[in-house]
Amino acid sequence: MKNNFRLLNGIPASAGIAIGKAVLLDRRKIDKFPRIRIPERLVEEEIRRFENAVESSYDQVKKAKEKLEEQDVIKEHSFILETHLMMLKDPVFTGRVKDLIKMQLINAEWALKIALMEIEESFERIGDEYIKSRAADTSFVGDRILRNLTGKEVGHFHIPENTIIVAHDLSPADTAMLNKERVLGFVTDIGGLTSHTAIIARSLEIPAVVGLETASSTISPGALLILDGITGTVIVNPSENQVEDYRHRAESYLTFELKIKEKAKEPAVTLDGHHVNVEGNLEFKEEVHSVLDHGAEGIGLYRTEFIYLNRDDIPSEEDHFEAYRTVVEAVTPYNTIIRTLDLGGDKFYSVMGNLQQELNPAMGLRAIRFCLKEVNIFKSQLRGILRASYYGKASIMFPMISGFEELDRAKEILEEVKHELRQQDIGFDENIKVGIMIEIPSAAIISDILAKEVDFFSIGTNDLIQYAIAIDRRNEYVDYLYEPLHPAVLRLIKYTIDAAHKEGIPVGMCGEMAGRSIYTPILLGLGIDSLSTNALAIPHVKNIARRINFQRCREITRHLLDMRTANEVREFMNNEVKSSPELCNVLETDQDL
Ligand code: PEP
Ligand code: MG
Repeated sequence: MKNNFRLLNGIPASAGIAIGKAVLLDRRKIDKFPRIRIPERLVEEEIRRFENAVESSYDQVKKAKEKLEEQDVIKEHSFILETHLMMLKDPVFTGRVKDLIKMQLINAEWALKIALMEIEESFERIGDEYIKSRAADTSFVGDRILRNLTGKEVGHFHIPENTIIVAHDLSPADTAMLNKERVLGFVTDIGGLTSHTAIIARSLEIPAVVGLETASSTISPGALLILDGITGTVIVNPSENQVEDYRHRAESYLTFELKIKEKAKEPAVTLDGHHVNVEGNLEFKEEVHSVLDHGAEGIGLYRTEFIYLNRDDIPSEEDHFEAYRTVVEAVTPYNTIIRTLDLGGDKFYSVMGNLQQELNPAMGLRAIRFCLKEVNIFKSQLRGILRASYYGKASIMFPMISGFEELDRAKEILEEVKHELRQQDIGFDENIKVGIMIEIPSAAIISDILAKEVDFFSIGTNDLIQYAIAIDRRNEYVDYLYEPLHPAVLRLIKYTIDAAHKEGIPVGMCGEMAGRSIYTPILLGLGIDSLSTNALAIPHVKNIARRINFQRCREITRHLLDMRTANEVREFMNNEVKSSPELCNVLETDQDL
């Protein structure tokens, strides 16, 4: 019998395989609403109507938040709904809507839509993934108020068993209301890896594919779906053979996941006794327990710029201190590497209004460059970090160092801050270690000089690759050139590691390359001391490390450095892997090189 299956490709946001029936959630924006001019005498009444809708929305989100908090696994993500609650209480936002009603004499729906458009336009000017996903918060909140104003139903829907949710986008509130027993997976039109849908799906360990663009408008309700959250593939109306094939894949995936998770908390020691420290990357302090549960032996990168986003004031020293202390206390006896902010350029922050739109933000006033210009902002963060170091084990890391002078100035400011703290009798770890990210080729090339000045390096491959091969990491047209195995990248990594080891300092890696277990043999062979990655990848990286022979990796990687292309490297590695049957199996289950 002929079968009309359809293949859709999106972003694999949460690993796993699900086979189930599509349930469509209509969470698209409400575009049809009344636009009415009102007489002046009705202004107060209209404002009251808006206030009531905001109040109902607040109650609904609060209830959703409580529900989320009841579910242990995703408890830590209730902060996302806290953001929605804050927005509903934000006088600047609600005040703008009321002003529009008053000044333009229009109904609440219309005024709300204008206010939301103003916010969305300001978000759109910014290319950053993270800020884009925060724009989704605005849209969820706006949609909720609009539904309350127009009387359209907001919440409850019946979910049958074996459901795969198909939605344009999914709010955390929607997710909280879903029955975990029944929902096997998520599929959405929009969203990226850092979207909230992706965060929640990973937390719940529910397979998800996002960024499918047209899923919600082309999949019929009730259609049978196969969702492959490992590759980002969705098959609509699969054949019986495909279903059978994916049932097997799902089974072996689950068995494999369970098996490697059992050992997640054990150290990663190679067959010949070499230990590599596997750590976690952190964006929000709330994620720290999940990262530790997945076996992180410390935090290799705490991206502190997230403290600056989603707010309309500059974080105070107390805000910094409170966040870092929470994390440091949870992670000690392991270490937490706190990276000073990597803000500016495309990670735009509105309160710092003096940041101009730059023509080439990736190469602009970013990270340490911004901090050295805005010394007071930098000092307040450094005070927060140093104070937190009193409560456990912490290190400081400067991002985007391009040369000696920058590092020297950053260290000088750090010394000034330490001096001030001593004078004020405020405790901090006098032996706190200071390191830098190696993510600009100039820093890698003078890593022998820089290694004399710091206690550790951490290689940021996301930027190192972008700058070394001259490709914008956000530009889909040059995406094919984004190549971790490019011989130039491998040589930069090797040169940096050797320079560091010559000075007796350790080198970690915290870019995405560190979390792809397929690269683990190469990275170990190049001599990396630690790998830091997202929670879910930690058990995988440890698993591979335990199956390889460190000395063999060293021998292999010596050859890689002479190869001409990434494909030659890949082919060579594939052949090597094939001669090691166990490793071959594991890598195949993990992902393709
Ligand atoms: C990197 O560049 O590899 C890195 C870890 O930093 P970010 O992704 O935050 O730029
Ligand atoms: Mg970087």
